[in-house]
Amino acid sequence: MKPKNKFQQQVVEASKTLQKLTKEQIQWGYDNAIEYIGRRNNKGLITCTKCGHSWQGTGHLVDTLTDCHCPNCKTKLSVQTTKKRTFEGKYYMTIITAHKGYQVLRTLMVSCFVKVGEQPKYIHSEVMQRWIAPNGKYCTFAKLRQTLGTSYYDSWIFHTPLELRQENEVYNRIYTGVVYPRQRLIPQLKRTGYKKALYGQNPLDLFRILLTDNRAETMLKTGQTKLLKRLLDMGWQRNIDRYWQSIRICIRNRYTVKDATLWCDYIDFLHFFGKDLHNAKYVCPADLLVEHDRYMQKKAKADAQQELEKQLKKETEYREAKAKFFGLMFSDGLISIRVLDSVAEIVLEGKAMHHCVGSYHSKTDSLILSACIEGERIETIEVSLSQLKVIQSRGICNKNTEHHSRIIKLVEKNIPLIEQRLAA
Ligand SMILES: [Zn+2]
Repeated sequence: MKPKNKFQQQVVEASKTLQKLTKEQIQWGYDNAIEYIGRRNNKGLITCTKCGHSWQGTGHLVDTLTDCHCPNCKTKLSVQTTKKRTFEGKYYMTIITAHKGYQVLRTLMVSCFVKVGEQPKYIHSEVMQRWIAPNGKYCTFAKLRQTLGTSYYDSWIFHTPLELRQENEVYNRIYTGVVYPRQRLIPQLKRTGYKKALYGQNPLDLFRILLTDNRAETMLKTGQTKLLKRLLDMGWQRNIDRYWQSIRICIRNRYTVKDATLWCDYIDFLHFFGKDLHNAKYVCPADLLVEHDRYMQKKAKADAQQELEKQLKKETEYREAKAKFFGLMFSDGLISIRVLDSVAEIVLEGKAMHHCVGSYHSKTDSLILSACIEGERIETIEVSLSQLKVIQSRGICNKNTEHHSRIIKLVEKNIPLIEQRLAA
């Protein structure tokens, strides 16, 4: 892609003089990015796929479950008992460097092909570069990827040039892998207090936040790294504003948050209860766990209260809509039928009968009645008030009972009673 603006032009120009990868860097990648296999045959002989050395292992479980290092080349091996004779793996490594005032992240794919008994063959390819300016602007150089006929988003086409590409979300998903320990930093990043710890973040994200938001720098320099990590994990942009005032109070009071997940939840509770989030008394509790749990219980109570109020509101609405039918009942001597006169009763009926009448209280056109014999629930009846007829009558688990038609007849016979109240 041709550069589309001045920034991209400048980066493309700078990229022309970017130093070549060194032998040391690449060798480090082969030694540290690749997971080497210790091939164990069924006689317990282990072969190191890196140096080819073989030795007799101690036993299947010990070899496969404990750390295994090759006695010859000292490489850590992952032991597999297998008949396979060839092994291939692709891994990533990232080199963090600086060039012409830009912070550059160079990501390499390193792979290793091993035939047991032969020297491994290594390949490396620099597949992606992220160039970050001191103001946080960035652009990406990459090789092309195969997109047809593969479900992998990183099927790099190695012979294509590493050049400026249109930004794509995929580049953020590329695993940056192990990071080469010697890093070169632009002075602007050095000043933020960055000390090689990535806090589990993609270096592009971390660097851009450090370069553009001095709140991240403040947190880093005041040792609030647990909070920094938590906020980065939660999504910096979406969350920092919500917590920042309280974080400042912590910093001022030299209160270092150790359990950031707990602390953020706790601040959410304080917020919910309208507490002063600028007040150290609330924001910096001596025993965070105790205070967190106390507010958690308070919140559970508040939620229960809210649920209750919702329920009461439903009752009020139901009463307003159907009160004129309350108390209505009729019987044929065996079966007695009555109007259910509260939401609670309807819910209970639905539970006892294992059908879905529980939610019918809000249906404006429906009147819900229960048919019982000697206090035992038999069927639940739904009457349409506009049509003045039975829409359905259901027994336990929606089945009809032997009394089904008798119940319907009894309701139909008494429809005038419903009609009278409807007109009242
Ligand atoms: Zn070895």
